[in-house]
Amino acid sequence: MIKPHLFHYIMTIQFSTKLFAQADFTATKNLKSAFALLIKQESDCLVMAYSKADLADLQGKTNGQGGPKKARQTLNLGLAGPLAALDAFLGGAILRAANDGDLAAKEAAVTLLRSDPSWLAQGVKLKRVLLVGLGETQQKTGGDILAYAKLARAAIKTLSGGAIETALWLMASFMEKPNSQRLGELARLTMQLAGDQVYRFGVRQPAMRFKVKDTPDPLKALIFVGGSKEASALKLAVAEGTALVEGMNLAKDLGNLPPNVCTPAYLAQTAQALAKKTTLKVEVLGRKQMEALGMGSFLAVTQGSELPPQFIIMRHSGGKATAAPTVLVGKGITFDTGGISLKPGDAMDEMKYDMCGAASVMGTIYAAALLKLKQNVIAVIPTCENMPSGKATRPGDIVKSMSGQTIEILNTDAEGRLILCDALTYVERFKPRAVIDVATLTGACIIALGSVHSGLFSDDENLVKELSESGKAALDTVWRLPLDTAYQEQLKSNFADVANIGGRPAGSVTAACFLKRFTEKYCWAHLDIAGTAWKSGAMKGSTGRPVPLLFNYLVTYGAR
Ligand SMILES: [Zn+2]
Repeated sequence: MIKPHLFHYIMTIQFSTKLFAQADFTATKNLKSAFALLIKQESDCLVMAYSKADLADLQGKTNGQGGPKKARQTLNLGLAGPLAALDAFLGGAILRAANDGDLAAKEAAVTLLRSDPSWLAQGVKLKRVLLVGLGETQQKTGGDILAYAKLARAAIKTLSGGAIETALWLMASFMEKPNSQRLGELARLTMQLAGDQVYRFGVRQPAMRFKVKDTPDPLKALIFVGGSKEASALKLAVAEGTALVEGMNLAKDLGNLPPNVCTPAYLAQTAQALAKKTTLKVEVLGRKQMEALGMGSFLAVTQGSELPPQFIIMRHSGGKATAAPTVLVGKGITFDTGGISLKPGDAMDEMKYDMCGAASVMGTIYAAALLKLKQNVIAVIPTCENMPSGKATRPGDIVKSMSGQTIEILNTDAEGRLILCDALTYVERFKPRAVIDVATLTGACIIALGSVHSGLFSDDENLVKELSESGKAALDTVWRLPLDTAYQEQLKSNFADVANIGGRPAGSVTAACFLKRFTEKYCWAHLDIAGTAWKSGAMKGSTGRPVPLLFNYLVTYGAR
Protein backbone atom coordinates (compact mmCIF):
# COMPACT_ATOMS: atom_id res chain seq x y z
CA MET A 1 0.00 0.00 0.00
CA ILE A 2 1.28 3.45 -0.95
CA LYS A 3 1.53 5.92 1.90
CA PRO A 4 1.81 9.65 1.51
CA HIS A 5 5.44 10.77 1.31
CA LEU A 6 4.98 14.46 1.72
CA PHE A 7 8.58 15.05 2.65
CA HIS A 8 9.63 13.70 -0.68
CA TYR A 9 7.35 15.85 -2.79
CA ILE A 10 9.13 17.55 -5.62
CA MET A 11 8.20 21.19 -5.89
CA THR A 12 7.92 21.32 -9.65
CA ILE A 13 9.09 24.91 -9.92
CA GLN A 14 10.74 27.39 -7.58
CA PHE A 15 9.79 31.04 -7.41
CA SER A 16 12.01 33.83 -6.14
CA THR A 17 12.92 37.47 -6.63
CA LYS A 18 16.01 39.24 -7.87
CA LEU A 19 15.84 42.83 -6.74
CA PHE A 20 18.15 45.64 -7.78
CA ALA A 21 17.99 48.33 -5.13
CA GLN A 22 19.63 50.89 -7.43
CA ALA A 23 17.51 50.17 -10.48
CA ASP A 24 14.18 51.54 -11.58
CA PHE A 25 12.39 49.56 -14.27
CA THR A 26 9.19 51.56 -13.94
CA ALA A 27 10.48 54.91 -15.18
CA THR A 28 11.93 55.55 -18.59
CA LYS A 29 14.68 57.60 -16.99
CA ASN A 30 17.84 55.61 -16.35
CA LEU A 31 16.44 52.48 -17.94
CA LYS A 32 19.80 51.86 -19.50
CA SER A 33 21.54 51.64 -16.15
CA ALA A 34 18.81 49.32 -14.89
CA PHE A 35 19.27 47.01 -17.88
CA ALA A 36 23.03 47.18 -17.43
CA LEU A 37 22.47 45.30 -14.16
CA LEU A 38 19.86 42.96 -15.54
CA ILE A 39 21.85 41.69 -18.52
CA LYS A 40 24.66 40.56 -16.24
CA GLN A 41 22.40 37.97 -14.63
CA GLU A 42 23.17 34.39 -15.56
CA SER A 43 19.85 33.09 -16.76
CA ASP A 44 18.48 30.99 -19.57
CA CYS A 45 15.94 33.63 -20.49
CA LEU A 46 14.72 37.15 -19.73
CA VAL A 47 10.99 37.67 -20.26
CA MET A 48 10.03 41.21 -21.15
CA ALA A 49 6.86 42.69 -22.58
CA TYR A 50 6.71 45.54 -25.06
CA SER A 51 4.00 47.78 -26.38
CA LYS A 52 3.46 49.20 -29.84
CA ALA A 53 4.80 52.46 -28.49
CA ASP A 54 7.97 50.75 -27.31
CA LEU A 55 8.41 49.20 -30.74
CA ALA A 56 7.81 52.48 -32.50
CA ASP A 57 10.30 54.12 -30.19
CA LEU A 58 12.89 51.48 -31.00
CA GLN A 59 12.38 52.01 -34.71
CA GLY A 60 12.47 55.80 -34.29
CA LYS A 61 8.88 56.23 -35.38
CA THR A 62 7.51 57.86 -32.29
CA ASN A 63 6.88 61.16 -34.00
CA GLY A 64 4.73 60.67 -37.02
CA GLN A 65 4.60 57.87 -39.59
CA GLY A 66 3.14 54.66 -38.27
CA GLY A 67 3.69 55.52 -34.64
CA PRO A 68 0.78 54.87 -32.31
CA LYS A 69 -1.01 57.89 -30.88
CA LYS A 70 -0.59 56.81 -27.31
CA ALA A 71 3.16 56.57 -27.16
CA ARG A 72 4.60 56.69 -23.68
CA GLN A 73 4.54 60.36 -22.99
CA THR A 74 7.74 60.40 -21.05
CA LEU A 75 9.74 58.89 -23.87
CA ASN A 76 12.31 60.86 -25.74
CA LEU A 77 12.99 60.07 -29.32
CA GLY A 78 15.31 57.13 -29.80
CA LEU A 79 17.20 55.04 -27.29
CA ALA A 80 15.01 55.80 -24.25
CA GLY A 81 12.32 53.13 -24.23
CA PRO A 82 12.83 49.68 -22.69
CA LEU A 83 13.30 47.86 -26.00
CA ALA A 84 15.84 50.39 -27.12
CA ALA A 85 17.58 50.42 -23.75
CA LEU A 86 17.93 46.65 -23.80
CA ASP A 87 18.88 46.56 -27.47
CA ALA A 88 21.88 48.75 -26.75
CA PHE A 89 23.40 45.71 -25.03
CA LEU A 90 22.24 43.18 -27.59
CA GLY A 91 24.10 44.54 -30.59
CA GLY A 92 20.89 45.70 -32.26
CA ALA A 93 19.34 42.23 -32.28
CA ILE A 94 15.92 43.55 -31.31
CA LEU A 95 15.93 46.28 -33.95
CA ARG A 96 16.98 43.79 -36.63
CA ALA A 97 14.19 41.43 -35.56
CA ALA A 98 11.75 44.35 -35.61
CA ASN A 99 12.84 45.49 -39.04
CA ASP A 100 12.53 41.91 -40.32
CA GLY A 101 8.94 41.90 -39.07
CA ASP A 102 9.51 39.44 -36.22
CA LEU A 103 8.17 41.85 -33.63
CA ALA A 104 4.57 42.37 -34.54
CA ALA A 105 3.54 43.92 -31.23
CA LYS A 106 0.43 41.81 -31.61
CA GLU A 107 -1.19 40.77 -28.38
CA ALA A 108 0.57 37.74 -26.90
CA ALA A 109 2.97 37.42 -29.86
CA VAL A 110 6.23 35.95 -28.58
CA THR A 111 9.68 36.39 -30.09
CA LEU A 112 12.65 34.47 -28.76
CA LEU A 113 16.09 35.95 -29.38
CA ARG A 114 19.25 33.94 -28.72
CA SER A 115 22.58 35.13 -27.47
CA ASP A 116 25.33 35.70 -30.03
CA PRO A 117 28.96 36.90 -29.85
CA SER A 118 27.87 40.55 -29.85
CA TRP A 119 25.86 39.97 -26.65
CA LEU A 120 28.83 38.30 -25.01
CA ALA A 121 31.06 41.18 -26.04
CA GLN A 122 28.80 43.50 -24.09
CA GLY A 123 28.95 41.27 -21.00
CA VAL A 124 25.42 39.93 -21.49
CA LYS A 125 25.05 36.70 -19.54
CA LEU A 126 21.43 36.10 -20.55
CA LYS A 127 21.18 33.19 -22.96
CA ARG A 128 17.89 34.32 -24.43
CA VAL A 129 15.44 37.18 -24.42
CA LEU A 130 11.74 36.41 -24.80
CA LEU A 131 9.79 39.43 -25.98
CA VAL A 132 6.04 39.41 -25.44
CA GLY A 133 3.83 41.75 -27.45
CA LEU A 134 1.27 43.65 -25.42
CA GLY A 135 -0.62 44.65 -28.56
CA GLU A 136 -3.43 47.05 -27.87
CA THR A 137 -3.80 45.76 -24.36
CA GLN A 138 -1.05 47.56 -22.53
CA GLN A 139 -3.38 50.25 -21.34
CA LYS A 140 -5.56 47.54 -19.90
CA THR A 141 -3.19 44.88 -18.60
CA GLY A 142 -2.88 46.62 -15.27
CA GLY A 143 -6.63 46.28 -14.85
CA ASP A 144 -7.69 43.41 -17.07
CA ILE A 145 -6.70 40.13 -15.54
CA LEU A 146 -7.77 38.14 -18.62
CA ALA A 147 -5.61 40.24 -20.93
CA TYR A 148 -2.62 39.72 -18.68
CA ALA A 149 -3.26 35.99 -18.36
CA LYS A 150 -3.26 35.62 -22.13
CA LEU A 151 0.17 37.24 -22.37
CA ALA A 152 1.58 35.36 -19.41
CA ARG A 153 0.33 31.99 -20.68
CA ALA A 154 1.91 32.58 -24.09
CA ALA A 155 5.24 33.40 -22.46
CA ILE A 156 5.14 30.52 -19.99
CA LYS A 157 4.30 28.07 -22.74
CA THR A 158 7.41 29.17 -24.62
CA LEU A 159 9.53 28.85 -21.48
CA SER A 160 8.34 25.37 -20.60
CA GLY A 161 9.11 22.00 -22.10
CA GLY A 162 12.42 22.93 -23.76
CA ALA A 163 15.97 23.80 -22.78
CA ILE A 164 15.10 26.70 -20.47
CA GLU A 165 15.59 25.94 -16.78
CA THR A 166 15.63 29.40 -15.27
CA ALA A 167 13.84 32.53 -16.39
CA LEU A 168 13.77 36.14 -15.25
CA TRP A 169 10.39 37.83 -15.42
CA LEU A 170 10.39 41.62 -15.71
CA MET A 171 6.99 42.24 -14.14
CA ALA A 172 7.04 46.03 -14.56
CA SER A 173 7.28 45.71 -18.34
CA PHE A 174 3.78 44.21 -18.47
CA MET A 175 2.11 47.26 -16.98
CA GLU A 176 1.69 50.79 -18.19
CA LYS A 177 1.79 52.37 -14.75
CA PRO A 178 2.92 49.76 -12.27
CA ASN A 179 1.38 50.11 -8.84
CA SER A 180 2.72 47.77 -6.26
CA GLN A 181 -0.53 46.05 -5.26
CA ARG A 182 -1.50 45.26 -8.83
CA LEU A 183 2.04 44.23 -9.63
CA GLY A 184 1.96 41.76 -6.75
CA GLU A 185 -1.39 40.33 -7.83
CA LEU A 186 -0.18 39.81 -11.38
CA ALA A 187 3.05 38.22 -10.16
CA ARG A 188 1.05 35.78 -8.04
CA LEU A 189 -1.14 34.99 -11.02
CA THR A 190 1.98 34.36 -13.11
CA MET A 191 3.12 31.77 -10.58
CA GLN A 192 -0.30 30.13 -10.60
CA LEU A 193 -0.17 29.85 -14.40
CA ALA A 194 3.42 28.61 -14.35
CA GLY A 195 2.53 26.04 -11.69
CA ASP A 196 -0.29 24.81 -13.90
CA GLN A 197 1.94 24.64 -16.96
CA VAL A 198 4.72 22.58 -15.38
CA TYR A 199 2.61 20.27 -13.18
CA ARG A 200 3.26 16.61 -13.98
CA PHE A 201 1.43 14.06 -11.89
CA GLY A 202 3.81 11.15 -12.35
CA VAL A 203 6.96 12.91 -11.19
CA ARG A 204 5.71 14.47 -7.97
CA GLN A 205 6.86 11.64 -5.78
CA PRO A 206 8.43 8.26 -6.45
CA ALA A 207 5.29 6.40 -5.35
CA MET A 208 3.27 8.20 -8.00
CA ARG A 209 5.44 7.13 -10.90
CA PHE A 210 2.98 4.83 -12.62
CA LYS A 211 4.43 5.50 -16.06
CA VAL A 212 8.08 4.83 -16.82
CA LYS A 213 8.38 7.70 -19.26
CA ASP A 214 7.21 10.59 -17.09
CA THR A 215 9.77 13.36 -16.86
CA PRO A 216 9.54 16.70 -15.07
CA ASP A 217 9.25 19.93 -17.00
CA PRO A 218 12.76 21.36 -17.48
CA LEU A 219 11.61 24.81 -16.28
CA LYS A 220 12.80 24.85 -12.67
CA ALA A 221 12.90 28.47 -11.58
CA LEU A 222 10.95 31.61 -12.30
CA ILE A 223 12.56 34.72 -10.86
CA PHE A 224 10.77 38.05 -10.65
CA VAL A 225 13.08 40.97 -11.23
CA GLY A 226 12.45 44.52 -10.16
CA GLY A 227 13.88 47.60 -8.56
CA SER A 228 13.42 49.00 -5.07
CA LYS A 229 9.89 50.23 -5.87
CA GLU A 230 8.61 46.73 -6.54
CA ALA A 231 10.66 44.96 -3.89
CA SER A 232 8.11 44.50 -1.13
CA ALA A 233 5.24 43.67 -3.50
CA LEU A 234 7.29 41.06 -5.33
CA LYS A 235 8.57 39.45 -2.13
CA LEU A 236 5.06 39.11 -0.74
CA ALA A 237 3.79 37.84 -4.09
CA VAL A 238 6.48 35.14 -4.20
CA ALA A 239 5.59 33.96 -0.68
CA GLU A 240 1.91 33.85 -1.59
CA GLY A 241 2.42 32.35 -5.03
CA THR A 242 4.70 29.62 -3.69
CA ALA A 243 2.14 28.66 -1.03
CA LEU A 244 -0.68 28.77 -3.56
CA VAL A 245 1.10 26.54 -6.08
CA GLU A 246 2.04 24.04 -3.34
CA GLY A 247 -1.61 23.94 -2.28
CA MET A 248 -2.82 23.52 -5.84
CA ASN A 249 -0.26 20.78 -6.51
CA LEU A 250 -1.42 18.89 -3.43
CA ALA A 251 -5.05 19.20 -4.52
CA LYS A 252 -4.14 17.98 -8.02
CA ASP A 253 -2.08 15.06 -6.69
CA LEU A 254 -4.89 13.87 -4.43
CA GLY A 255 -7.45 14.23 -7.21
CA ASN A 256 -5.35 12.40 -9.77
CA LEU A 257 -4.29 9.52 -7.53
CA PRO A 258 -6.15 6.30 -8.33
CA PRO A 259 -8.98 5.36 -6.00
CA ASN A 260 -7.14 2.24 -4.82
CA VAL A 261 -4.42 4.55 -3.45
CA CYS A 262 -6.32 7.68 -2.46
CA THR A 263 -8.66 6.07 0.06
CA PRO A 264 -10.25 7.73 3.11
CA ALA A 265 -7.31 6.46 5.19
CA TYR A 266 -4.85 7.92 2.68
CA LEU A 267 -6.52 11.33 2.95
CA ALA A 268 -6.29 11.09 6.76
CA GLN A 269 -2.61 10.09 6.57
CA THR A 270 -1.94 12.96 4.19
CA ALA A 271 -3.51 15.38 6.68
CA GLN A 272 -1.36 13.92 9.45
CA ALA A 273 1.76 14.17 7.32
CA LEU A 274 0.95 17.83 6.66
CA ALA A 275 0.64 18.38 10.40
CA LYS A 276 4.18 17.03 10.84
CA LYS A 277 5.49 19.29 8.10
CA THR A 278 3.71 22.49 9.18
CA THR A 279 2.02 24.04 12.22
CA LEU A 280 -1.34 22.50 11.25
CA LYS A 281 -3.15 20.57 13.97
CA VAL A 282 -4.98 17.49 12.77
CA GLU A 283 -7.57 15.29 14.37
CA VAL A 284 -9.15 12.24 12.71
CA LEU A 285 -12.39 10.69 13.93
CA GLY A 286 -13.23 7.08 13.15
CA ARG A 287 -16.52 5.23 12.83
CA LYS A 288 -17.06 4.79 16.58
CA GLN A 289 -16.72 8.52 17.22
CA MET A 290 -19.04 9.31 14.31
CA GLU A 291 -21.60 6.93 15.77
CA ALA A 292 -21.30 8.64 19.14
CA LEU A 293 -21.86 12.01 17.45
CA GLY A 294 -25.00 10.67 15.77
CA MET A 295 -23.78 11.09 12.19
CA GLY A 296 -26.40 8.68 10.87
CA SER A 297 -26.53 10.31 7.46
CA PHE A 298 -22.76 10.13 6.84
CA LEU A 299 -22.58 6.57 8.14
CA ALA A 300 -25.39 5.47 5.80
CA VAL A 301 -23.19 6.34 2.81
CA THR A 302 -20.19 4.37 4.05
CA GLN A 303 -22.17 1.20 4.83
CA GLY A 304 -21.46 -0.58 1.54
CA SER A 305 -17.69 -0.04 1.58
CA GLU A 306 -15.03 -2.29 3.07
CA LEU A 307 -12.90 0.78 3.80
CA PRO A 308 -13.51 2.62 7.08
CA PRO A 309 -14.79 6.21 6.89
CA GLN A 310 -12.71 9.06 8.27
CA PHE A 311 -13.69 12.46 9.57
CA ILE A 312 -10.70 14.81 9.28
CA ILE A 313 -10.36 18.12 11.11
CA MET A 314 -7.40 20.36 10.25
CA ARG A 315 -6.71 23.61 12.07
CA HIS A 316 -4.56 26.55 11.15
CA SER A 317 -4.42 28.88 14.14
CA GLY A 318 -2.68 31.95 12.77
CA GLY A 319 -5.05 34.49 14.30
CA LYS A 320 -6.00 35.53 17.79
CA ALA A 321 -7.39 32.73 19.92
CA THR A 322 -10.67 34.62 20.15
CA ALA A 323 -10.99 35.27 16.41
CA ALA A 324 -13.78 33.28 14.78
CA PRO A 325 -12.41 30.86 12.18
CA THR A 326 -13.27 30.47 8.53
CA VAL A 327 -14.37 26.88 8.12
CA LEU A 328 -13.90 25.01 4.84
CA VAL A 329 -15.81 21.76 4.42
CA GLY A 330 -14.79 19.44 1.56
CA LYS A 331 -16.66 16.46 0.18
CA GLY A 332 -14.35 13.45 0.24
CA ILE A 333 -16.01 10.57 -1.60
CA THR A 334 -12.83 8.75 -2.71
CA PHE A 335 -14.83 6.70 -5.19
CA ASP A 336 -18.46 7.10 -6.11
CA THR A 337 -20.10 4.14 -7.80
CA GLY A 338 -23.52 5.63 -7.02
CA GLY A 339 -24.11 2.78 -4.56
CA ILE A 340 -27.25 0.70 -5.19
CA SER A 341 -28.39 3.52 -7.52
CA LEU A 342 -25.40 2.42 -9.61
CA LYS A 343 -23.95 4.84 -12.15
CA PRO A 344 -23.56 3.87 -15.82
CA GLY A 345 -20.09 2.47 -16.60
CA ASP A 346 -19.05 5.14 -19.09
CA ALA A 347 -16.23 7.31 -17.66
CA MET A 348 -16.88 5.89 -14.22
CA ASP A 349 -13.14 6.04 -13.52
CA GLU A 350 -13.59 9.78 -13.21
CA MET A 351 -15.57 9.18 -10.03
CA LYS A 352 -12.18 9.04 -8.30
CA TYR A 353 -12.44 12.84 -8.58
CA ASP A 354 -15.43 12.86 -6.24
CA MET A 355 -13.05 13.82 -3.44
CA CYS A 356 -11.85 17.02 -5.13
CA GLY A 357 -13.75 19.14 -2.60
CA ALA A 358 -11.71 17.48 0.15
CA ALA A 359 -8.51 17.86 -1.88
CA SER A 360 -9.14 21.56 -2.46
CA VAL A 361 -9.84 22.44 1.18
CA MET A 362 -6.76 20.43 2.21
CA GLY A 363 -4.69 22.24 -0.41
CA THR A 364 -6.04 25.60 0.73
CA ILE A 365 -5.36 25.12 4.43
CA TYR A 366 -1.91 23.74 3.58
CA ALA A 367 -1.24 26.93 1.61
CA ALA A 368 -2.53 29.03 4.53
CA ALA A 369 -0.14 27.22 6.87
CA LEU A 370 2.84 27.61 4.52
CA LEU A 371 2.13 31.32 4.25
CA LYS A 372 1.64 31.58 8.04
CA LEU A 373 -1.58 33.43 7.34
CA LYS A 374 -2.56 35.54 10.36
CA GLN A 375 -6.05 34.15 10.79
CA ASN A 376 -7.83 31.04 11.95
CA VAL A 377 -8.89 28.49 9.36
CA ILE A 378 -10.39 25.07 9.91
CA ALA A 379 -10.80 22.42 7.21
CA VAL A 380 -13.28 19.63 7.81
CA ILE A 381 -13.33 16.61 5.55
CA PRO A 382 -15.90 13.84 5.75
CA THR A 383 -14.49 11.03 3.61
CA CYS A 384 -15.60 7.54 2.60
CA GLU A 385 -16.42 5.46 -0.48
CA ASN A 386 -19.87 5.00 -1.96
CA MET A 387 -20.09 1.32 -2.93
CA PRO A 388 -22.86 -1.19 -3.61
CA SER A 389 -22.92 -4.34 -1.50
CA GLY A 390 -25.27 -6.48 0.58
CA LYS A 391 -24.75 -4.04 3.39
CA ALA A 392 -25.22 -0.90 1.32
CA THR A 393 -27.95 1.64 1.92
CA ARG A 394 -31.08 1.03 -0.18
CA PRO A 395 -33.23 3.63 -1.92
CA GLY A 396 -36.11 4.15 0.49
CA ASP A 397 -34.00 3.84 3.63
CA ILE A 398 -34.63 6.52 6.24
CA VAL A 399 -31.71 7.76 8.35
CA LYS A 400 -31.32 10.28 11.13
CA SER A 401 -28.78 13.03 10.62
CA MET A 402 -26.64 14.57 13.37
CA SER A 403 -28.98 17.59 13.31
CA GLY A 404 -31.89 15.34 14.27
CA GLN A 405 -33.62 15.74 10.90
CA THR A 406 -34.60 12.47 9.27
CA ILE A 407 -33.75 11.87 5.63
CA GLU A 408 -35.42 9.55 3.15
CA ILE A 409 -32.68 8.35 0.81
CA LEU A 410 -34.46 8.11 -2.53
CA ASN A 411 -31.26 7.83 -4.55
CA THR A 412 -28.02 6.48 -3.11
CA ASP A 413 -26.03 8.38 -5.75
CA ALA A 414 -27.02 11.66 -4.06
CA GLU A 415 -24.56 10.77 -1.31
CA GLY A 416 -22.39 13.88 -1.19
CA ARG A 417 -25.07 15.90 0.56
CA LEU A 418 -25.55 13.03 3.03
CA ILE A 419 -21.98 13.18 4.25
CA LEU A 420 -21.84 16.98 4.05
CA CYS A 421 -24.97 17.60 6.11
CA ASP A 422 -23.47 15.92 9.17
CA ALA A 423 -20.18 17.77 8.69
CA LEU A 424 -22.12 21.04 8.40
CA THR A 425 -23.87 20.31 11.69
CA TYR A 426 -20.56 19.33 13.30
CA VAL A 427 -18.89 22.67 12.45
CA GLU A 428 -21.47 24.67 14.44
CA ARG A 429 -19.21 24.09 17.44
CA PHE A 430 -16.48 26.30 15.94
CA LYS A 431 -18.75 29.39 15.99
CA PRO A 432 -17.38 30.23 12.54
CA ARG A 433 -17.31 33.66 10.91
CA ALA A 434 -18.16 31.87 7.67
CA VAL A 435 -18.50 28.30 6.42
CA ILE A 436 -17.78 27.42 2.80
CA ASP A 437 -18.45 23.90 1.65
CA VAL A 438 -16.84 22.64 -1.53
CA ALA A 439 -18.18 19.62 -3.36
CA THR A 440 -18.28 17.87 -6.71
CA LEU A 441 -21.94 17.66 -5.92
CA THR A 442 -24.15 17.47 -9.01
CA GLY A 443 -23.92 16.55 -12.67
CA ALA A 444 -26.65 19.14 -13.11
CA CYS A 445 -24.10 21.85 -12.29
CA ILE A 446 -22.00 20.71 -15.28
CA ILE A 447 -25.10 21.00 -17.47
CA ALA A 448 -25.82 24.49 -16.11
CA LEU A 449 -22.34 26.03 -16.10
CA GLY A 450 -20.00 23.67 -17.97
CA SER A 451 -16.37 23.83 -16.91
CA VAL A 452 -16.07 27.63 -16.80
CA HIS A 453 -17.63 28.66 -13.50
CA SER A 454 -18.18 26.78 -10.26
CA GLY A 455 -21.72 27.08 -8.93
CA LEU A 456 -22.08 29.44 -5.97
CA PHE A 457 -25.00 29.25 -3.59
CA SER A 458 -25.47 31.57 -0.62
CA ASP A 459 -28.00 33.89 0.96
CA ASP A 460 -25.26 36.09 2.39
CA GLU A 461 -24.75 38.99 -0.02
CA ASN A 462 -21.34 39.89 1.42
CA LEU A 463 -20.01 36.39 1.11
CA VAL A 464 -21.36 36.15 -2.45
CA LYS A 465 -19.60 39.38 -3.37
CA GLU A 466 -16.33 38.42 -1.72
CA LEU A 467 -16.21 34.94 -3.23
CA SER A 468 -17.15 36.27 -6.67
CA GLU A 469 -14.44 38.95 -6.55
CA SER A 470 -11.85 36.49 -5.22
CA GLY A 471 -12.66 34.10 -8.03
CA LYS A 472 -12.38 36.72 -10.74
CA ALA A 473 -9.00 37.92 -9.51
CA ALA A 474 -7.69 34.35 -9.35
CA LEU A 475 -9.09 33.19 -12.72
CA ASP A 476 -11.15 30.68 -10.76
CA THR A 477 -14.62 32.07 -11.22
CA VAL A 478 -18.03 31.29 -9.75
CA TRP A 479 -21.56 31.93 -10.96
CA ARG A 480 -24.32 32.45 -8.46
CA LEU A 481 -27.32 30.14 -8.68
CA PRO A 482 -30.56 30.50 -6.70
CA LEU A 483 -31.36 29.12 -3.29
CA ASP A 484 -35.00 30.18 -2.99
CA THR A 485 -37.31 28.54 -0.49
CA ALA A 486 -39.65 27.65 -3.37
CA TYR A 487 -37.22 24.89 -4.44
CA GLN A 488 -37.52 23.24 -1.02
CA GLU A 489 -40.91 21.90 -2.23
CA GLN A 490 -39.07 19.39 -4.40
CA LEU A 491 -37.39 17.85 -1.34
CA LYS A 492 -40.61 16.93 0.44
CA SER A 493 -40.90 13.35 1.61
CA ASN A 494 -44.08 11.52 2.67
CA PHE A 495 -42.13 9.55 5.27
CA ALA A 496 -39.24 11.68 6.60
CA ASP A 497 -38.35 15.34 7.28
CA VAL A 498 -36.63 15.65 3.93
CA ALA A 499 -35.80 13.60 0.82
CA ASN A 500 -32.21 13.48 -0.43
CA ILE A 501 -33.14 14.29 -4.03
CA GLY A 502 -35.62 16.61 -5.68
CA GLY A 503 -35.80 15.16 -9.17
CA ARG A 504 -34.05 16.30 -12.34
CA PRO A 505 -35.27 19.91 -12.57
CA ALA A 506 -32.82 22.34 -10.97
CA GLY A 507 -30.80 19.43 -9.58
CA SER A 508 -27.91 21.63 -8.37
CA VAL A 509 -30.29 24.04 -6.68
CA THR A 510 -32.21 21.38 -4.78
CA ALA A 511 -28.91 19.84 -3.65
CA ALA A 512 -27.87 23.23 -2.27
CA CYS A 513 -31.34 23.66 -0.72
CA PHE A 514 -30.86 20.34 1.04
CA LEU A 515 -27.57 21.55 2.54
CA LYS A 516 -29.12 24.88 3.50
CA ARG A 517 -31.35 23.07 6.00
CA PHE A 518 -28.23 22.20 8.00
CA THR A 519 -26.54 25.62 7.93
CA GLU A 520 -29.07 27.95 9.53
CA LYS A 521 -26.80 28.79 12.47
CA TYR A 522 -23.99 30.56 10.58
CA CYS A 523 -23.01 32.49 7.48
CA TRP A 524 -22.63 29.91 4.72
CA ALA A 525 -21.82 29.42 1.06
CA HIS A 526 -21.77 26.26 -1.05
CA LEU A 527 -19.53 25.76 -4.08
CA ASP A 528 -20.50 23.07 -6.59
CA ILE A 529 -17.27 22.21 -8.41
CA ALA A 530 -18.51 19.19 -10.40
CA GLY A 531 -17.71 20.98 -13.66
CA THR A 532 -14.48 22.71 -12.68
CA ALA A 533 -12.46 20.35 -10.44
CA TRP A 534 -11.16 18.12 -13.21
CA LYS A 535 -10.92 17.88 -16.98
CA SER A 536 -12.11 14.90 -18.99
CA GLY A 537 -10.85 13.53 -22.29
CA ALA A 538 -7.30 13.67 -23.61
CA MET A 539 -6.34 16.31 -21.03
CA LYS A 540 -7.87 14.31 -18.19
CA GLY A 541 -6.62 15.58 -14.88
CA SER A 542 -7.35 17.58 -11.79
CA THR A 543 -7.35 21.37 -12.20
CA GLY A 544 -6.60 22.21 -8.58
CA ARG A 545 -9.70 24.43 -8.55
CA PRO A 546 -11.03 26.05 -6.44
CA VAL A 547 -7.78 26.40 -4.43
CA PRO A 548 -6.93 29.74 -6.15
CA LEU A 549 -10.39 31.10 -5.33
CA LEU A 550 -10.37 29.94 -1.69
CA PHE A 551 -6.77 31.01 -1.11
CA ASN A 552 -7.44 34.44 -2.59
CA TYR A 553 -10.60 34.74 -0.51
CA LEU A 554 -8.69 33.99 2.70
CA VAL A 555 -5.82 36.33 1.85
CA THR A 556 -8.15 39.17 0.88
CA TYR A 557 -11.16 38.82 3.19
CA GLY A 558 -10.43 36.07 5.71
CA ALA A 559 -9.13 38.32 8.46
CA ARG A 560 -12.10 40.72 8.34
ZN1 LIG B 1 -22.91 10.23 -6.17
